[in-house]
Amino acid sequence: MTGYLKKTDQEVARLIAAEAKRQQETINLIASENIASLAVREALGSALTNKYSEGYAGKRYYAGNAVIDEIEELAKARARKLFGLGKNWSVNVQPLSGSPANMAVYFALLKPGDKFLAMSLSSGGHLTHGDPASFSGKLFSPIHYGVGKDGRIDYEEVRRLAVREKPKLVLAGFTAYPRTIDFKKFGEIAREVGAYFMVDMAHIAGLVAAGVHPSPFPYADVVTTTTHKSLRGPRGAIIFSRIDRMLKSGESGEKEMTIARAINRAVFPGLQGGPHDNQTAAIAVCLKEAMKPAFKTYGKQIVENAAALAAALQKHGFHIVSGGTDNHLLLVDLTDKNISGLEAQTRLEEAGIITSRTMIPYDPRPPFDPSGIRLGTPAVTTRGMKEKEMVQIAHLIHEALTGKGNSAIRKRVNLLCSRFPAEN
Ligand SMILES: *Cc1c(COP(=O)(O)O)cnc(C)c1O
Repeated sequence: MTGYLKKTDQEVARLIAAEAKRQQETINLIASENIASLAVREALGSALTNKYSEGYAGKRYYAGNAVIDEIEELAKARARKLFGLGKNWSVNVQPLSGSPANMAVYFALLKPGDKFLAMSLSSGGHLTHGDPASFSGKLFSPIHYGVGKDGRIDYEEVRRLAVREKPKLVLAGFTAYPRTIDFKKFGEIAREVGAYFMVDMAHIAGLVAAGVHPSPFPYADVVTTTTHKSLRGPRGAIIFSRIDRMLKSGESGEKEMTIARAINRAVFPGLQGGPHDNQTAAIAVCLKEAMKPAFKTYGKQIVENAAALAAALQKHGFHIVSGGTDNHLLLVDLTDKNISGLEAQTRLEEAGIITSRTMIPYDPRPPFDPSGIRLGTPAVTTRGMKEKEMVQIAHLIHEALTGKGNSAIRKRVNLLCSRFPAEN
């Protein structure tokens, strides 16, 4: 099923080919990106995109959903198996992406104006964790914790804030935090103040699946994740919620509703119409891939590559926030390099190295042009790169940021990339 676009729409065909070429010829260090398998992409481009299936399996609004029901149930069963979950967890694979997944959880568990405790965007949280620019900061009352000067979460400070502010929900799980998250401690803090404990494992889901980051499931009431980051699936999201936890009383018209039921109702009909069934099938495919032993090796290599990249950059004199990394990403502090995060991002892009600028803890510069860059290893690891290539990449980054002549570096980047196919 290929070649059709070239015949009917050369403009779009050309643009898609150009983007595929860009992906092949550049080193992708965006920590939230990955390269989905061709099997995942085949499911995404399938006949499933034609179907409307509002509702849930066995309770659809339109006819003709027998196969879709099987696909959705298969995706849910695989998600449960991958993360080792029992019958006390409900799984929802319909959220269109990570942000709407988080929105559904808030709408189910909070009322407008309710307090929740989460990490600030500037310290590594996500927009949907209560940033003023996001619905989450406009509709609710977020209380934010940050990181200490050492770039790490101060759990005593989180506890102090929770005790003082009595939030209804405590949220852990970040976008730019390079260290292992102590879910047990967060869970204890949430229990102590009677709050729901929500984990947003969007960035680290693949690491949790591979067993190289501790699982949040023993402690959380709700876990959200995207499927397109370290998990290596299609763009999409999953919400896991406990069916043995009840909504706090007075929360809804009906009493005695489980949080799982409230969350599933918030997804549909609360926020969304028809699910993207092609995406659901592609999620099922990625979950099967993630259950293979090779995925454990992959997850381990992601972490080893990030550590190798951090160490090699340190050797070149770069300051790494918190002194290194435990996971798939690292934050390079450029304050002593006489270059801003935006300039660095631009210069690296000219050299064929794709990164994202980031705030560093206590950043003296504004968010649009902050002092750091964030680097992640899921995509390069998918291409088969290992520690040796990380040392090479660190060297290329050093040259691109300190020297001139990025076109010469670009040639070396292209050469390195040519040995590691992006599509597989
Ligand atoms: C990426 C991310 C999201 C949002 O996902 P989208 O699919 O971009 O909406 C939410 N939370 C965290 C922690 C993320 O890293």
